[in-house]
Amino acid sequence: MENQSRAIKILPDAGMVLAGLHRSGFQAYVVGGCVRDALLGMTPHDWDICTDARPDQVQRIFGKNHCIPTGIQHGTVTVHAGASFLEVTTFRTESGYSDGRHPDSVSFIRDVREDLARRDFTVNAMAYNDEEGLIDPFGGMVDLLNHRVIRAVGIPAERFHEDALRIMRLYRFAARLEFAIDPATEKAALELAPALCHVSAERIREELVKTILTRVPSRYLPKVILREILPELAADGDADFRAVMALLDASPAGQSQRLAALFSRLSGEESPEEKARRVLRRLRFSNEETDAVTGLVRHLAEESASGGLPQRVQARRLLGDLGLEGAENLIGLWAAKRTCAGRTDAADGPDRVGELDALIRQMAASRECVSLKQLAIGGRDLMQEYPQARGPVLGRTLNRLLDDVICERVPNRREALLEEAGKILSVPQPPA
Ligand code: ATP
Ligand code: MG
Repeated sequence: MENQSRAIKILPDAGMVLAGLHRSGFQAYVVGGCVRDALLGMTPHDWDICTDARPDQVQRIFGKNHCIPTGIQHGTVTVHAGASFLEVTTFRTESGYSDGRHPDSVSFIRDVREDLARRDFTVNAMAYNDEEGLIDPFGGMVDLLNHRVIRAVGIPAERFHEDALRIMRLYRFAARLEFAIDPATEKAALELAPALCHVSAERIREELVKTILTRVPSRYLPKVILREILPELAADGDADFRAVMALLDASPAGQSQRLAALFSRLSGEESPEEKARRVLRRLRFSNEETDAVTGLVRHLAEESASGGLPQRVQARRLLGDLGLEGAENLIGLWAAKRTCAGRTDAADGPDRVGELDALIRQMAASRECVSLKQLAIGGRDLMQEYPQARGPVLGRTLNRLLDDVICERVPNRREALLEEAGKILSVPQPPA
């Protein structure tokens, strides 16, 4: 295939940076993911640039004011050009990832082909500029457009040995592009899976999340790999594992939802929620994401939309516990769970879930009382009226009142709530 017949329409801001480097006598190309995506006819989300200019030279050419020294030691300067921030990285070779994040040492080099040789897969190891066309020493374009295969650059076992994260990346790119995996590459990946234990949790997390957000993740998450990164997942036998994978595929492709599906059946002694929390913490998810996912796992374990509760009460409980977005996410997961189970019974069918969904939206819009902060009285009101209500008693009483409002036993009005509080407090309280 002829190089020039595959012209890539470079983002104009990236084109300006290439031109700036070329004018100063340096080589420069767009490289990696943007070349791959552009050749596939997709819009790249960022345009990475590689050059033989060293970081200090890049900064001199574009001026310090337009440069962010993102990773100078590794050769990366972020250049602000037009409306874009573009990563410009000096051609390099690298060795060792003993901290699991960065190569131990990098050496800057002059040859773009050598830079491409350090990259992970043939489809990611192409560079391009308008003057020279496509630089494709490893047959990336044929793998991308003809074979539709992810294949390691060089000897697969060596490449995975250098950086085991590439094992996760292999499945991530295969899943995203829905490509086959080159057999020799896959064989090495499966054999070297135990090396994933040397990779930092953050790097694993990032690849795992990207993989589970694809269309059919179960096809690209072999048990051997998952066992290395999530031992709790595959411990309870094949049936459980298959059920988790089926739910993963069926669930809506939101990050919290897919994570809740993946972590819905972990082995261990604690509650499903606690088990999920432990794994989320180990993978260093943010507190916010951890809470969102564990909230979904907590309710996912409940049967489903009926749960034996009146719908209005259930709607308020979910809204109070998960918020609107969380409650909607849960409903999507319940629907996925039903699809997996092939259930169509009317009491629990799509209509009931649809009704619950509508009810939750309407309650959120009309700001119905579903949480303590919406209760018509607060701790201070309660203490003024009943000085004996303090410490843990105070919190317990407010929660009882909230539950009374949610279950429609008491209206959410000051007088009614204070009267009800009197009744609650007149009963001897258990010791704090
Ligand atoms: P995405 O569209 O998901 O960002 P990408 O190909 O840009 O895909 P990045 O993780 O952003 O992926 O990496 C950019 C490029 O750097 C890759 O295309 C690849 O050439 C190279 N690369 C990244 N990580 C590695 C690695 N661990 N080993 C070898 N090469 C890598
Ligand atoms: Mg990228």
